[in-house]
Amino acid sequence: AYRKGGYHAVRIGDPFNGGRYIAQRKLGWGNFSTVWLAYDTKSSKFVALKIQKSAAEFAEAALHEIQVLSAIANGNPSDSKCVIRLIDQFKHSGPNGQHLCMVLEFLGDSLLRLIKHNRYKGLPLNKVRELCKSILMGLDYLHRELGIIHTDLKPENVLLVSTIDPSKDPEKSGLTPILERPEGNPNGGVVSNAIEKKLKRRARKAVAKIALRRDSMGGIKVREKKSLDGIDLRCKVVDFGNACWADQQLAEEIQTREYRAPEVILGAGYSFSVDMWSFACMAFELATGEMMFAPKCGQGFSEDEDHLARMMEFLGKMPRKVAITGSRSKEYFDRHGDLKRIRRLKFWSLDRVLVEKCNFNESDAREFTDFLSPLLDFAPDKRPTAEQSLQHPWLEIKSPNPSEEEKEDFGKLAVGMTNLQFEVGR
Ligand code: ATP
Ligand code: MG
Ligand code: MG
Repeated sequence: AYRKGGYHAVRIGDPFNGGRYIAQRKLGWGNFSTVWLAYDTKSSKFVALKIQKSAAEFAEAALHEIQVLSAIANGNPSDSKCVIRLIDQFKHSGPNGQHLCMVLEFLGDSLLRLIKHNRYKGLPLNKVRELCKSILMGLDYLHRELGIIHTDLKPENVLLVSTIDPSKDPEKSGLTPILERPEGNPNGGVVSNAIEKKLKRRARKAVAKIALRRDSMGGIKVREKKSLDGIDLRCKVVDFGNACWADQQLAEEIQTREYRAPEVILGAGYSFSVDMWSFACMAFELATGEMMFAPKCGQGFSEDEDHLARMMEFLGKMPRKVAITGSRSKEYFDRHGDLKRIRRLKFWSLDRVLVEKCNFNESDAREFTDFLSPLLDFAPDKRPTAEQSLQHPWLEIKSPNPSEEEKEDFGKLAVGMTNLQFEVGR
């Protein structure tokens, strides 16, 4: 809603913060903000400009997010921790009010897009390992050094680090900085959906052109293979709007449904280990292309109950002691620790699911299960920390000979990545 208290309408070429940042195109939006690709004239780099809605509750939320992001940036001067970096912050006054703005480093596509792009088939395990390492390094930093719980870890909130620096390589990225408002912009220059579509088309064409050029020069196959081995998938954890310090928790109900830990559903209190649960769900999804838990409500039972049932079908029965400790336990469990309204569970262990449903070979399934299942312990205190998980041997395995099929899949992925990174809108 572009009205009082709502989003700020941006036109391409609009200056921000006394002219330091120039709006280039829209990257995305959420419930709280619109996010713009902007050009930083001071550093000559592209950045992401997050412009918050102006109403008081959004301003308050932005202040909290800025507080968390500042703590994250202060402890990470060398930018080695796999978390998004806050570059600047300022206020911007517009017709709809005053908007808090965050300037963040410009990152690539989310892991959700990567999963979609790979047609929900799962990524090669070597790539999953690389991504897992980055995410765990981010979590270890947040948890151990800062005492911060992310509380909303999911594929959408982990973004790839671009393999191309658009400020150094405008041709490859298809991005050249726009420094002023283009003339003759219809609609008074406000970016309407129609213009956005046109820009999108133009961006796609630019990328297609590059691909074509490479193709016509021949040797694309060779290049692809080379770049494949070289591509070091890296990613960073983003979206700290819901993050909190472990000793200053703000909400009882946290996390996005599919990635929610059992103790949150049961109202049994939570700590850093909720992020480890979500991490495991996400690792499973990266490797298989499917969500680990996608609960639905049904006749005679709620979404929460279905969720708990699915957890137990995968991971075995929840120990009675854990099941009965939450403030909502009595709604779901009887005094024996059995679900009240879902009586028959179809047990199907994790490694069998990987083999029988996801076509893993036996040893891959065994090794991956060995990594994942401790993270999915029903007892939060028993889950390994991010620091401990980083020591797990699974992360050091190198699948020696990726199958031809796998190679080809990732070939598409690698090419697609540069495509995706600069696609407009999401
Ligand atoms: P939410 O409702 O998810 O809390 P929000 O208003 O807090 O939304 P974000 O989720 O931070 O906004 O950002 C919205 C979208 O903008 C993201 O999903 C992503 O597509 C894009 N985006 C955000 N930050 C960046 C960045 N640093 N680089 C590139 N794209 C980004
Ligand atoms: Mg978000
Ligand atoms: Mg947010």
